[in-house]
Amino acid sequence: MFVYLLGTLFVCVSGVNGGTRTPYFDLTVYNDWPQFEDYVKGVAHDNPSFVQLKTIGRTREGRPLLGVRIGKPAAAGKRKIAVWFDGGNHAREWPAFHVAVYFIEKLVNGYLIDDKITKYVETLDIYVFPVLNPDGFVYSRTSSRAMIRQWRKNRAPENCTGTGPFQTDICCVGVDLNRNYDIGFSQKSYPFNNPCSDEFQGPYPFSEPESRAVRDFVMSSELYGRLYALVSMHTHGQLWILPYNYHKRTYPQDIKELEALANKAAERVFAYRETKYRVGTAADMLGTATGGATDWIKKNTPTKYVYVLELPPDMKTWFAFQVKPHWLIPIGKETWLGIEVIMDQVIEETKDFQPTENTADSTAEMRSPRFKQL
Ligand SMILES: [Zn+2]
Repeated sequence: MFVYLLGTLFVCVSGVNGGTRTPYFDLTVYNDWPQFEDYVKGVAHDNPSFVQLKTIGRTREGRPLLGVRIGKPAAAGKRKIAVWFDGGNHAREWPAFHVAVYFIEKLVNGYLIDDKITKYVETLDIYVFPVLNPDGFVYSRTSSRAMIRQWRKNRAPENCTGTGPFQTDICCVGVDLNRNYDIGFSQKSYPFNNPCSDEFQGPYPFSEPESRAVRDFVMSSELYGRLYALVSMHTHGQLWILPYNYHKRTYPQDIKELEALANKAAERVFAYRETKYRVGTAADMLGTATGGATDWIKKNTPTKYVYVLELPPDMKTWFAFQVKPHWLIPIGKETWLGIEVIMDQVIEETKDFQPTENTADSTAEMRSPRFKQL
């Protein structure tokens, strides 16, 4: 009887139409990797009707690359349009990981309560991957010494291809996962070719399990042909970054549409507390960055809206990868407003579009950009 009463009580507090549906996650402090891991697993476990755990691979050190798919299951024989948000692959960019959790909180707790959120969950499959470089993140949390806390790369074993004025075979740990994709690769000069630089590209394209996992998942039958927008968050600079970045003044053919939507989203974010984002390619605004994840995805998949968001603070603040943690929620709130603009546009543009069912014999066709049908 006692157990029965407890069960009834549990249903009352965690029922679908109210109460807490996400595990506790404190967004007023910086969390460690185990909190992220527990949260992502917990939110999927507690909401099986519309949240599914996704493990897309493992890191160098064996940690899972975890995320969730948030969306009501598609009707029989139908495929839903998908969108992707991630907290990036740079170890020290802790705010971006937390903002990704803010997005999950918003979606899961708003479903069936907030009309707009309910529409997103029912219309789209929303993939959120808070941390795509957990090894580097864990390492960056082990010390406040700048060399560790400001770690950017993954934890690949030493590569020994560096050269200096009087020395060859200079060895260092780690690869910049956002230089490891096969686009504009094989740079011969510093910093991309030197294992001891922050931006070491790796010994060859996709040398790292973390970048291979993302590549394989966006090319998988689960996502390919229905992923319509992808936003990868980083810190910092207040930039809404368009493709391409491996070369200056190099753009996809639909750049005007990508730029127009980014401007619209940036205006919406500005309206909240006047956080001003610049819109453009990083190559044009800052200098070229080869081997980037989003450039590769834009070039090799039919995904239309592909962006990097460099969250606050702005570029004038030197080396400010980690804002004071009391800023995490305000940044989450304002960024979410921009994300809503992206999702609204995706829903509007794809309302008459039905991605076809993937079948075992559709492999060749899968490689054609289906969104051209729009
Ligand atoms: Zn970054």
